Amino acid sequence: MWRNIRILSLLLVLAGVAIHAWLDRVATQSWKQTLWVGLFPLSGDGTASAQRYIEGLTLRDFAGIEAFFAREAHRYGVSVEQPVHVELYPQGSQLPPPLPPDTGPLGTAWWSLRMRWFAAHAAQVPGRAPPRIRIFVLYHDPSTLDSVPDSHGLQKGLVGVVHAFAQPGMAGSNNIVIVHELMHTLGASDKYAPGSGEPLYPIGFADPGRRPLYPQTEAEIMAGRRALSAHEFEMPPGLRDVVVGPATALEIHWTHP
Ligand SMILES: [Zn+2]
Repeated sequence: MWRNIRILSLLLVLAGVAIHAWLDRVATQSWKQTLWVGLFPLSGDGTASAQRYIEGLTLRDFAGIEAFFAREAHRYGVSVEQPVHVELYPQGSQLPPPLPPDTGPLGTAWWSLRMRWFAAHAAQVPGRAPPRIRIFVLYHDPSTLDSVPDSHGLQKGLVGVVHAFAQPGMAGSNNIVIVHELMHTLGASDKYAPGSGEPLYPIGFADPGRRPLYPQTEAEIMAGRRALSAHEFEMPPGLRDVVVGPATALEIHWTHP
């Protein structure tokens, strides 16, 4: 009897989780209404310079994100006038749980549960409506870092963690990383080689039919970098030089097979 009740409640919880994930997916891939994305700035290193940078942030610093989604979605025939709306939330004090680089599949699953739990609490800001998608942006003083830790975007849970540089000159490339992780939450997959970061041909190229092929003037958002030659690639200065390629457009349901 108790055993059956236990099994039944477990099945109900699992069904609830599956239905919730399905509803999230329908809401974020229908492109009939404006999708609300919340940015939650955090100090990644506790330095005074990162703090000053965060205090100077305004919505204007992220205006390129809304413009990018409108431009690219309309290019694919999406009719909603403003596909994505960005809201800037006040700085939070708690950092999201870290994901060490060599974590296995079980550890990653556990981290993703803790991440969703963290996001559900951190996104509750008094007097502000919670956004559909939560992106936590951790700012670092560039002089304290050799390289920024990896950023992450989760479709299950609609949450992303972005490591960004606290420097005005990096605002454009920070926005590229924010959109890349946001695209992961919408169902897009990476289009670069895992080890080297090299854009994959043809899906990671903005213009795979270009003759000559190199240099590419723009980057595909899920590759993140434009190929300058067969062995050189770089991140463009901002979203003006980034496009959504056909493979990504299909994954996020801007087009249909
Ligand atoms: Zn990625």
